[in-house]
Amino acid sequence: MPKFVFVTGGVMSGIGKGVTTASIGKLCQFRGFKVSALKIDPYLNVDPGTLNPVEHGECFITDQVWKYNPIGDTTNNPFTSTKIAELDQDFGTYERFLGDPIHPSHNITSGQIYFETILKERKGDYLGKTVQIIPHCTNMIKERIQNIAKDENLDVLIIECGGTVGDVESVIFLEAFRQLRLELPEEDTALVHVTLVPYSKAVGELKSKPTQHSVKELQSAGLQPDFLICRSEINMYEAIKAKISLFSNVKKEHVIANPDLKSIYQLPLIFEQQGFGDLLGENLDLKTRLVENNTYSEWVEMTNLFVNKYTKTLRIAMPGKYVDNKDSYVSINHALAHSCAHEKVNLEIVFVDTEKDNFDDDLNSCDGILLTPGFGTRGVEGMIHSAEFAMDNKIPYLGICFGAQLFYVAFMRSRMGIESAQSTEIDPNAIEPVVSMMDEQQKIVNIGGTMRLGGHSIIIDKDTKLYEAYQQTKITERFRHRYHINEKYATAEAKNKGIRISAYDETRKIVNAIELTGDHWMVGVQCHPEYTSRPFKPSPIYHAFIKAILKNKA
Ligand code: GLN
Repeated sequence: MPKFVFVTGGVMSGIGKGVTTASIGKLCQFRGFKVSALKIDPYLNVDPGTLNPVEHGECFITDQVWKYNPIGDTTNNPFTSTKIAELDQDFGTYERFLGDPIHPSHNITSGQIYFETILKERKGDYLGKTVQIIPHCTNMIKERIQNIAKDENLDVLIIECGGTVGDVESVIFLEAFRQLRLELPEEDTALVHVTLVPYSKAVGELKSKPTQHSVKELQSAGLQPDFLICRSEINMYEAIKAKISLFSNVKKEHVIANPDLKSIYQLPLIFEQQGFGDLLGENLDLKTRLVENNTYSEWVEMTNLFVNKYTKTLRIAMPGKYVDNKDSYVSINHALAHSCAHEKVNLEIVFVDTEKDNFDDDLNSCDGILLTPGFGTRGVEGMIHSAEFAMDNKIPYLGICFGAQLFYVAFMRSRMGIESAQSTEIDPNAIEPVVSMMDEQQKIVNIGGTMRLGGHSIIIDKDTKLYEAYQQTKITERFRHRYHINEKYATAEAKNKGIRISAYDETRKIVNAIELTGDHWMVGVQCHPEYTSRPFKPSPIYHAFIKAILKNKA
């Protein structure tokens, strides 16, 4: 029988429920259990694919694409079925910690639950019944959770509920948790509540009141936490643990500290030091003890790479328009950090707002430029300028998706003299559409879930910088785009002037990567290799970028 660990959050959002969830997964992996994570997002969007990254952070792309067709409609009606591969950014944390690709059905939103309920009602599935939140929606949530654990043969499934207890939207999910905890044997579920314990500088102590209130809120939903994970600026002392225990009805040794850390990868180790892994195992009757196995010692070794401070620091410019929210490019930030840690250098990311009039000094002060993915016209001329700046000043450059497309635009304008070169995403009537909409996208009307998504094969030409990075002619990376590089413009003259198409899709219709020939390391990829970069196995192309910067600096 699978075990279920529910993770809720209190006091405020953004206190690291995702990292806690992933770390609990790691504790299970250290003990040899098959584990996965599931995230509930209580908003009404069916998936986060249509959300602005500044609003909600990056969208994480999965390897698999889920054909979500709740009533089995065979008419291909875009209003009854959709493709899902765009997930909440917490899935990036789960995959980076746990290593395995996660199926997109693991991201449940209120949008999906209501969409499915209403479609089923129209179809007649509930004939004769009044359709209600309880039991129809809550049953659906419980089934989704239990089926995933069963179908994937999991020992443990960790379920994170987004938002904060007390939010109106999350009430039905907490209710589903309550019912599952009641229906299943006691030792099959655990409830972990992540809360904030602020430090009052004025009184010089940690304060427990916000935690007391959020536990009360949880209790009023019929849920008693088994563990409290307390986020705090400083380490928790015994007296505060005792106070929190007393007021929240949670055993003292189950009050676990989650202090600020140098690296998020330390969290599973901090949990182990407090016995959380064993205590959770006892709670779930998993009957194991921590053994110093390979995954544990490898994790310790890997974590040291991220905690150490090095003598050299690389400054990498990230020109783009979503610079107000650091989480907009969170997987890119991590992919750069993975490669830097493995090269034993510190990383400093310089977000550059391409809507500004002049930011050349910012670019000039950096050792490398990573041109960001993105959509739409805002800030785009500044992004094209950044690619040209890299070309002119021979700054190592990696363009991701939009950043590859705009590198191509910059090349065609500045090296080929095609001044009106443009992407049709920016100007649908472009005279020189060097980047244009893919054929398969032409007929699409709905925006949600309709891009070219998920993992696809990439065929790499030998003797290219891309091949040098991957050392393979066939790889898989994840994609999320509607437009592509127009090969027609890669004429013999353009090739002579230094542009090289280094990879295609399997049909050879979609250009998957471009680069400059010669010794300036400038590469653009249509895919998003950041989603598969892991702290213990950096993405080959990001790693090659960092190595090129180091070589250039030497
Ligand atoms: N807007 C571009 C496209 O749709 C690039 C997308 C991206 O950067 N992910 O093709």
